[in-house]
Order: sequence, then C-alpha cells, then structure tokens
Amino acid sequence: MGIKEDLEFWQKKYLSPYCLKKCEKLCCSRKKTKVLMEENQLREAYGLSLDEKIINNDNHILTETQTGGALVYWVSIHPTKKQPHCPAYEPGTRRCRIEHNKPRMCRDYPLSLENNILRLSSKCDAINKDNPVMERLIEMSRQYSLRTELLKDK
Ligand code: SF4
Ligand code: SF4
Repeated sequence: MGIKEDLEFWQKKYLSPYCLKKCEKLCCSRKKTKVLMEENQLREAYGLSLDEKIINNDNHILTETQTGGALVYWVSIHPTKKQPHCPAYEPGTRRCRIEHNKPRMCRDYPLSLENNILRLSSKCDAINKDNPVMERLIEMSRQYSLRTELLKDK
C-alpha cells in the first residue's frame, strides 16, 4: 500500500466511526454545510428511483452544477429548516446511508496531501493530539516522512 491508500484506510477504519458515533461537531449536521453530490448519491440519500424527479424540498437547497460534463448537486443544509442535516444522515442510528459511496469531499475531509505535505483542518474535532484517532495518523506521517500543517480554516 502507498500513502494515499493508507490515508484512505485511516479515514475509513479510524476516522469515520469516530465521526458518526462520537464527534460533537458532526459535519453531517453542521449548520451551513454544503455537500457536493453526484446524482446517484443524491438519489440514494433521498431514496429516489431513477424515474423520480430531483427537486428542492423544505430541508435542503439543491444547486445543479456541471463538473467534467457530469451533473452534480450542491446540497445546502439550511440552518432553520426542520431537518438540519445531510439527507444521507440518519440521526437515530448516527449513520451515513451512502457510506459505501459517499461524496469525495466527505471521504477526503479533513486531510489534503500535496508534495509530501499533509494538511489537516483545525476545524475537525479529531485533529487533536489528545484524540486517539490521531495516533495512527501521526505514526503514518512519520513512516512516510510527511510534513504536517494545520489549516486554520473557518
Ligand atoms: S454524505 Fe454521509 S458523510 Fe457526507 S455529509 Fe452526508 S451523511 Fe455525512
Ligand atoms: S469534524 Fe472531523 S471528526 Fe467531526 S465529523 Fe467532521 S471530519 Fe469527523
């Protein structure tokens, strides 16, 4: 395995269970969150079949856009509406309904790797030296001689 695969493994095996079960700042229900979803992900999140039309509803504002010819949707979680979480999030079980096929941005956050520099979002609850989820990430960055930087994102 290489560094990218190891980071993906860390996200899947260590971070994701922490996110959904323990994180107090859960991204999936954070006010003003925007998630970029492919059509198939959005359909699965809403439980819509292929012949049902995707429309805005009371809980989310959908903005259609194009990337590389494919139609994708920005899903905005409105802070005042009655379902203040991502349509794929199930609050009762604290699980992501599309975990097996979740959006790229959900898979990547809170890391970005470029030229042996691993950037970590300071806004993420797990990016904290006292959090056990970080231990494996620190080990990995040592193993691959990565430089780490903390991003002071908003
Ligand atoms: S797609 Fe899944 S991981 Fe991403 S915000 Fe929605 S519930 Fe959370
Ligand atoms: S803030 Fe970090 S730990 Fe919390 S849900 Fe988001 S990515 Fe996961």
